[in-house]
Amino acid sequence: MNVEIPELPFAPVSTKVCPLCNLELSREDDFGVVRARPDGRNLYCKSCIRKKVTASRQKRRLIRLARQAARQAALDGIVVERKGNVIAAIPAIPTPAEKVFRELQAPLTQKTLHRLTGLSPDGVSEALAELMLVEGTVVRAGWVDGERLYARKEADARRRA
Ligand SMILES: [Zn+2]
Repeated sequence: MNVEIPELPFAPVSTKVCPLCNLELSREDDFGVVRARPDGRNLYCKSCIRKKVTASRQKRRLIRLARQAARQAALDGIVVERKGNVIAAIPAIPTPAEKVFRELQAPLTQKTLHRLTGLSPDGVSEALAELMLVEGTVVRAGWVDGERLYARKEADARRRA
């Protein structure tokens, strides 16, 4: 008995399911060639691979931007703390001199500076000495009720305001 096997109208399409999008797709058309794999095709479909590439590019871009921001923050005197992938910018702890300078928006006495900065009276004098003698950014600015006033040096007050 001779059984005739009818010819198929087209070659059977070999399919494969992509584990990312769960779509059953053509093994030949929708999966890239990877000779190292058992079936010679990529595990994920071309569309999913494209998405993965885009996502990793975006991630690299975000990391680059975060690094740039961290560098800028460091230039601005902000301490940058790294926790895993999160980069947190924390304002640097001001020195006594910085605290005093910050409060000197107007001429002030040592007593007022002590109250405003929370520094000890000695701490205030030391900070003022540093600002006047070392930095030269603060000057004596007259008296009020028998107490000396301290102020930012004019040009400097404008520059650093
Ligand atoms: Zn896929």
